[in-house]
Amino acid sequence: MDDATKSVNNIRLDVRSLKARFTELDQKDQCCICEFPLLTRQFYVFPCDHSYHMDCLINKTTKHLPFRQIRKLADLQEQLSRDIKLQNKLQHVQWAKAANNNSKQIESTDSERDEFRRTKARIERLKTELDDIVANECVYCGQIMIDSIDAPLISLDENDVVLSWMI
Ligand SMILES: [Zn+2]
Ligand SMILES: [Zn+2]
Repeated sequence: MDDATKSVNNIRLDVRSLKARFTELDQKDQCCICEFPLLTRQFYVFPCDHSYHMDCLINKTTKHLPFRQIRKLADLQEQLSRDIKLQNKLQHVQWAKAANNNSKQIESTDSERDEFRRTKARIERLKTELDDIVANECVYCGQIMIDSIDAPLISLDENDVVLSWMI
C-alpha cells in the first residue's frame, strides 16, 4: 500500500470512529427533519448532536446530489432492503433450528451459516457506501448547509419587490 492510500484510509478510520461515538439517546429525542421520535426507525447521530432518521436524511441529501449519485443511492437502498430481508429470513431459520436442537433435529448447515455471514458482510458494506453518500457531513452543519446559505436568500422575483420598497 502506498503512502497516499494509507493516509486516505486513516482519515476514513477517523471519520468512522467519530460516527461510532457513543451517544445517549432518550425516548423523546427527535429527528431534526421530521420531528418524530428518533428511535422509531434507523437513524444517524452526528458528532454535533444533530440526529436524523436514515430515510429523512436520504430525502434531504438527495436534493443536493448530482443525478449519478441519486441513482447510486437508489440502487444501494434497494440492495440493502433485499439483503436485510434475506438476513432476517436466514436468522429466523437459525433460531428455529436452535430451538429444536434439544430434540436433535437438523442443525444449521455450514452453507446456511456461510450465507448468513456473507449476507451480513454485504449489508455492512452497503451501509458504509450509503453512509459515504448521505452521512459524510451533517446536513445542517456541513458543506451542504454552507452551499445552501450561499444560494441567494431572496429569489430574483422577490428582489424586484424589495427594490420597489426602497424610496
Ligand atoms: Zn425523521
Ligand atoms: Zn449538525
